[in-house]
Amino acid sequence: MTTLHQIEPLTEKIRIASRAVAFTGAGISTESGIPDFRSPGGVWSKYQPVPFDEFVASQEARRRFWRMRREAYDAFAGARPNEGHRALANLEAAGRLAAVITQNIDGLHQQAGSRRVLELHGTAREVACLDCARRYRDSEIQQRLVGGVDVPTCDECGGWLKSATVSFGQVLPADVLAESARLARESDLFLVIGSSLVVQPAASLPVLARDAGAVLAIVNRDPTPLDDAADFVIRAPIGETFARIMRLLQTDGARPDETL
Ligand code: ZN
Repeated sequence: MTTLHQIEPLTEKIRIASRAVAFTGAGISTESGIPDFRSPGGVWSKYQPVPFDEFVASQEARRRFWRMRREAYDAFAGARPNEGHRALANLEAAGRLAAVITQNIDGLHQQAGSRRVLELHGTAREVACLDCARRYRDSEIQQRLVGGVDVPTCDECGGWLKSATVSFGQVLPADVLAESARLARESDLFLVIGSSLVVQPAASLPVLARDAGAVLAIVNRDPTPLDDAADFVIRAPIGETFARIMRLLQTDGARPDETL
């Protein structure tokens, strides 16, 4: 199935959109070397994810959680944003993208320069106290782990520290989800990038956008349950696809109302 012929018409939609929103999943970060936790191989299949209720209940589970975080930190510390992340940052800077809503916890959108990033599943770049909510930089807590601490606790109150990510069994942050739903409903172009659209409630955002009249585009390696409802489906590597879109946007000149 070839879908590359859709890149030019999609670029046209990006050019005329005034409230475009991107929704990204693991697929955009696999091109930076961060594996999808649902794919076989690597750190995620070696350790079972620790559900939130187990983390709270058992010291052994907390130890397992932090062993996994330390290994993931070592493995992905060198990960850098790729062409896909950079394209979204550039689109935002050019006034062509309102926000990035992401299922990823790796912080690569911010590292690429995106300013408005809504993290549905939290961030692995920070650690939070479960009792007083004080935040720490992940690098600071990693130093404690390297120093021999196996389960870090809060300096402030002694509470358990956990990565500021949404674990299995934890609810998504309500404010982030509500803002994401608002952006989806108000968007005129909704770009799904590297998400297989199987994790709810995040996967319902493209439906909200589509039902409110947005053009729906899906750029993903594999088929998704919403392909039939989409206006554009591009099954190609994300970095390459967006590099091409950015070149087309540049070579065709500025849109008439360009003010930047
Ligand atoms: Zn605390």
